[in-house]
Amino acid sequence: MGGESPRRSCPACVRREAALADPSCPICHGSGVLYLGAGALSIYPAATVSLAAEYHLEAVSRLALAASPTAAGLALAVKALRTAVADLTRVGVLAARPHKGRYPVDRQWSPTSPADAAALVPLHEPQDGARLAAAPLSFDPSERPFATGILPPFSAAGYLCYIARAADPADAMGPGTAVRVHARSRRESDARLLAQAVVIPQEA
Ligand SMILES: [Zn+2]
Repeated sequence: MGGESPRRSCPACVRREAALADPSCPICHGSGVLYLGAGALSIYPAATVSLAAEYHLEAVSRLALAASPTAAGLALAVKALRTAVADLTRVGVLAARPHKGRYPVDRQWSPTSPADAAALVPLHEPQDGARLAAAPLSFDPSERPFATGILPPFSAAGYLCYIARAADPADAMGPGTAVRVHARSRRESDARLLAQAVVIPQEA
């Protein structure tokens, strides 16, 4: 079962600030990884299956957020992501997680359905790839990217992709950009100190 499946990192958690896996992540439930399905892997290489899953999740998030660009849309997008992961698992693009799962798994998939599943991406748009590959944006303290009022155009970590926006939304009404930037640079400087403290010198 899933224990031997190739794994990929969760496309939402890998884009959270500091890449922390969130126990309430609608995609991985805090495990931080997705297990690729044997059905799709019997037809395509792991990199293709992994990308197909990511494109599908990106498209599902984009459609849900486009339907309702509000806080209610966010709730819809999170629900749509849960359903999408269950769909991908049912058709063999993803494998069931080896430990106890919360999403339903139907092991009755036929040998042909994985092929349909890898083509589950009629929703995929060429821009999805660019958005998924884009690096996060860091803002200056004086910039106000979240000033639009409704849904922020970026995730909390500054990612443009819709998966990150759905799973890691910035609070548009929360602290201003300056507060965020200062808090983040404080964490980064503490992290550097911590990393230096645990470094074992290679040559004395
Ligand atoms: Zn996750």
